Amino acid sequence: MTHPAATATTHPATLIATLPPLSVVLAALALGALLWGLGYATACAVTPFGRCRHCNGHGKSIKPNGRVKRWCRRCDGTGLRLRIGRRLFNYLRRLHRDAR
Ligand SMILES: [Zn+2]
Repeated sequence: MTHPAATATTHPATLIATLPPLSVVLAALALGALLWGLGYATACAVTPFGRCRHCNGHGKSIKPNGRVKRWCRRCDGTGLRLRIGRRLFNYLRRLHRDAR
């Protein structure tokens, strides 16, 4: 008797046949992108400010002895930054307001 693992070989053609069709994959990707976009738009509306990436939200860099080395120049020491989506929304709103 031969070992089952020795005889069971999966052919590459059967592996491709088990994949879902391309239209299903593209629809799932489009749905995922739509859900991500809705979530990001909600985040931009609810919390327009995110943590500053330069100082990680601290607003300052700290020396090893615990004293403030210098205030963050990118966020002026606030530790906050405006999200890119909110910046885009503000730009579009300003453009719409000025066009009237
Ligand atoms: Zn900062």
